[in-house]
Amino acid sequence: MNDEFSLHPAWTKAAACRQVDPERFFPEKAANNDQAMRVCEDCPVRFECLRDALEQKDNPEGVWGCTTKRRRTILRKQAEKSSVDEVMEMIRAQAAKPTQTHCKRNHPFDEYNTRVYRGSRICRACQRQRRYGEVAV
Ligand code: SF4
Ligand SMILES: [Zn+2]
Repeated sequence: MNDEFSLHPAWTKAAACRQVDPERFFPEKAANNDQAMRVCEDCPVRFECLRDALEQKDNPEGVWGCTTKRRRTILRKQAEKSSVDEVMEMIRAQAAKPTQTHCKRNHPFDEYNTRVYRGSRICRACQRQRRYGEVAV
């Protein structure tokens, strides 16, 4: 996992990236962020993680809370104009958008295929694919 977390609070104990090679979270090329983003998508503490990254004095390198450094640069500017609280509210609302009927890979967000965790909807089919390499249903 990300070594920087060892200095951080209790939520880091639940970090999904604890089990993952930290190199994935600091790829040399931004195009290789994908693997880290997938781990973050299912992480139970992704909002706490993002908030932490937004509140640090300097924008940290790598993927944090399902965001790239570039995305956080934008979010940090928004937070300067409003507040980190408001930005986090927007992020949570986007994650739980009721108008979004399908996941990014086009699986339905219906009652059988949806897991809700801390305001975020998680696609079970995608989760299974990531864990077991199952073919899409
Ligand atoms: S959101 Fe991503 S970077 Fe943050 S703790 Fe979870 S897996 Fe790690
Ligand atoms: Zn899906």
